[in-house]
Amino acid sequence: MEKLVFWDWAGTLADESELDKAVCKSIEEEIAKKENIPFSEAQKLFNDYLKKLENKWQWHDYVRIGESFGLEWQSIQKMHLDKLILLPHAKEILGYVKNKGYRNILTTNAVSRVIYLRTDYTGLSVLFDAIIASDDVRALKSEGKHFAYGLKIMKGDPLLSFSIGDNPAQDILSAKKFNLITILCDFGKKLTHYHSEHLTHNFTENVFSDFRIKNLLEIKNII
Ligand SMILES: [Mg+2]
Repeated sequence: MEKLVFWDWAGTLADESELDKAVCKSIEEEIAKKENIPFSEAQKLFNDYLKKLENKWQWHDYVRIGESFGLEWQSIQKMHLDKLILLPHAKEILGYVKNKGYRNILTTNAVSRVIYLRTDYTGLSVLFDAIIASDDVRALKSEGKHFAYGLKIMKGDPLLSFSIGDNPAQDILSAKKFNLITILCDFGKKLTHYHSEHLTHNFTENVFSDFRIKNLLEIKNII
């Protein structure tokens, strides 16, 4: 059986707040241009669209958003990749954990075509043994399917495996159902941009995690 580390992406390894804000603004600008309507009307159209998908994995699907509004989703993503910020020591800690004999699994609510653009851009793709996106399991992480799938395909031992993330409901509660060891990242809350309410309420949930950290280097005291 393998020892696994399930990593969350936004708010844990990366600060995507400026990137996603810019992407959403561009989507609204493109809708306004395409429909020949004022920007504020386009904002409302996009927000109404997102509201319908709150608490569903499709909320995160920029490909679907592009198709729904007839926009080039990929060029909008690429245009703003320079706003993606890796958190301090992200690369180092992924290498550290790998050297300790763990397999790194990225588990994210993003969809695969978007997360690969982002991990490739940052050069982190090679440090992951698997990437499990929401469209792979057709679920949000809170449903636990990312972990179930990861444990299965990587032949993981849950009692020796970790879930590391910043969102109490998505990364901790769901991982505890599988008896994974949990590490809550206290620093993530402001590093993720939700363009509608969506999972914002998750952060008020009080959870018990096995560990709580203030920066990624603290993981070296745990693993
Ligand atoms: Mg997160």
